[in-house]
Amino acid sequence: MADCIFCKIVAGEIPAKVVFEDDQVLAFEDLNPQAPTHVLVIPKQHIATLNELTAETAPVIGHMAHVAAQIARDREFAENGYRTVMNCNQDGGQTVYHVHMHVLGGRALSWPPG
Ligand code: 5GP
Ligand code: ZN
Repeated sequence: MADCIFCKIVAGEIPAKVVFEDDQVLAFEDLNPQAPTHVLVIPKQHIATLNELTAETAPVIGHMAHVAAQIARDREFAENGYRTVMNCNQDGGQTVYHVHMHVLGGRALSWPPG
């Protein structure tokens, strides 16, 4: 998608602090971190929102969760705990329309969200 900032990060056209990459996904530090660790895990393929997932593309979400858990282990907060969040559309607070999983850790997080 030509005008998608996360597709531009995948293409290397916008710089990002990449923490993990394979053929399917990219993980990078959020520009405006809300916790000591705030990483975004995204599929390399453009999928605008969770609503656009199909039976064919859905497995990448499981892979993103697996990558998130590995990041939590690497940063040594897996046992204490952390949060993964995927915001969908306006009421969910989505601002970038390329599916992404927030990985927030390194501090206690309150619940429920606002
Ligand atoms: P959303 O609100 O869509 O769930 O989350 C979008 C996230 O992307 C926000 O946390 C925001 O800080 C982050 N973000 C937006 N633009 C950029 C960017 O150009 N680079 C990086 N690294 N993060 C971004
Ligand atoms: Zn995109």
